[in-house]
Amino acid sequence: MKEIEDTDPDVYEKMTASMRFTQEQKIHLNGEEFRIEYGSAAGAISRLRLLQILAAGCRDVGVNLHFETPVDSADDLDGYDLIVASDGANSRLRQEREVEFGTERRILGNRFAWYGVARPMEPMALIFRTFEEGTFIGHYYAYSDAMSTFVTECDERTWYKFGLDRMTDDERKAEMERVFAPELMGERLIANHSIWRQFPAVTNEHFYSGNIVLLGDSQRVAHFSIGSGTRLAMEDAAALHQAFQECEQDVAAALARFEHIRRPGRQKFGEAARLSFEWYEEVARHMQQPLVPFIHDFLTRTGRINEERLRAYAPGFYDAYQSFRDSARPQ
Ligand SMILES: Cc1cc2nc3c(=O)[nH]c(=O)nc-3n(C[C@H](O)[C@H](O)[C@H](O)COP(=O)(O)OP(=O)(O)OC[C@H]3O[C@@H](n4cnc5c(N)ncnc54)[C@H](O)[C@@H]3O)c2cc1C
Repeated sequence: MKEIEDTDPDVYEKMTASMRFTQEQKIHLNGEEFRIEYGSAAGAISRLRLLQILAAGCRDVGVNLHFETPVDSADDLDGYDLIVASDGANSRLRQEREVEFGTERRILGNRFAWYGVARPMEPMALIFRTFEEGTFIGHYYAYSDAMSTFVTECDERTWYKFGLDRMTDDERKAEMERVFAPELMGERLIANHSIWRQFPAVTNEHFYSGNIVLLGDSQRVAHFSIGSGTRLAMEDAAALHQAFQECEQDVAAALARFEHIRRPGRQKFGEAARLSFEWYEEVARHMQQPLVPFIHDFLTRTGRINEERLRAYAPGFYDAYQSFRDSARPQ
């Protein structure tokens, strides 16, 4: 948010006015739960509202926006000085030049779908549940006074064991309403293109080729379990803006500068995302632990939170973990 404020104070103000902040998260493991009070707040915003704010910000500086206008190939944009390929995880423009970008792709085993719920579900929560011998994860958070996001996930073994692979999307949704009935409390899941899929972890060795630059998910798809894809995309945009301020009209120099600014951040988050999705791919095994060591394992899975940082990041949980360790020590 600080970076957005520095780049565009007007967009920052509109965003914070529309965001819902929280410091609390419930982590539930098979009937037991712990409420974590984090040292800093997390913010959520309706995707539609965010897009409206960004589109208004574009218009304010004279950008001519075209909607519902697919670009099938970079050839369609012949003659432009610069092509910003921010066309998402399945970027067409990247796919045309995968060798030049050095694209690598790994398809994960877990399956997930993204739903909504017409109620602010608070505190935000992560539900790890063994249900009829299947392994399920529910991740929900309120993003407005009336709505919540509810991401449902299962591991690959569960996907086939439950026959989810042979069901229609409506049947899968009904199964998730059964698995997460205690949390939904009679509320239905709301589908909106809620297609079950496997996560494509994509990275690119190079961030630009000629005058085409990759931004956001087209450049790297950070796993949703580290919840930072939107942030990374906006930081990319801010860095591209900075690079052009420094290099003015020199496109080649600005793109080299952009890659230089973003490479360290990419490496840091790329590694964190990999460790995080690998933890989720093995979630059934981690769920064999008691609640407190399980949460410790979860919070430290990316290697970015050591004991020192944990104390500041989640002080109440840090104390609970110390007590657990003391009680588990042989007398
Ligand atoms: C289940 C799930 C949960 C997530 N949770 C979070 C979270 O909590 N926090 C977070 O920060 N991030 C989260 N993310 C990630 C976040 O959604 C993405 O990282 C972010 O949207 C990337 O922004 P982007 O602009 O790069 O791509 P997108 O938001 O995908 O935008 C790409 C745009 O390009 C357009 N487009 C695509 N192809 C073409 C074409 N050929 N021609 C013209 N236009 C085209 C699309 O219509 C779209 O408007 C989550 C993702 C998933 C899947």
